[in-house]
Amino acid sequence: MERLPVTEKDRELIEIGLRVLKDNFDDGIYNHTVGCALLCRNGNIYKGVNCDGIHGSCAEYITVGIAISSGEREFDTIVAVHDKALNCVIPPCGNCRQMLYEYCPDVKVIVNDENGQLIKVKARDLLPLPGSPWSAKKLCIKNTLCSGADGATNAMRHTFNTMTANGVCRALTIGISLRCWSLNPFRRDCHGSAF
Ligand SMILES: [Zn+2]
Repeated sequence: MERLPVTEKDRELIEIGLRVLKDNFDDGIYNHTVGCALLCRNGNIYKGVNCDGIHGSCAEYITVGIAISSGEREFDTIVAVHDKALNCVIPPCGNCRQMLYEYCPDVKVIVNDENGQLIKVKARDLLPLPGSPWSAKKLCIKNTLCSGADGATNAMRHTFNTMTANGVCRALTIGISLRCWSLNPFRRDCHGSAF
């Protein structure tokens, strides 16, 4: 695993994440307790906080979603933060590691190393032996995901059935199927308007 040094720009990114958390902190109803900042390769920076709920999303998910919604596709560095965490940095959870691997495996993630020092590592290095979603995506496209809501539903159902038949666990299969759905506008070879 390649370990990259943390730069002054990375520390500024941490500060940006802390600021968005401070501005939106809530430890009551909505539980906004983690901030995130994402630097794109073009220099643009996006920020977000986690959204809690029955199906809550981590700050990394929210922030990547905001960046993608703004047209970004190339990501450089990401960090999740909390002011009480070691070096104010929180390592991504397993779910986020999978998401980062799928969207941007080469994005650099600021984390703490074994000695408590800040380093950067590529997202792909945070998820050894990852599951591959690519075959599922192909299935979604193949099953006219772009043709509308029914196409998406059918594609998800087909993907679920296919992967369950192949021994993939139920939760993982559902996750991958939904990822296909959400990835639809992300793909440049899709031209559907239903999503
Ligand atoms: Zn997470």
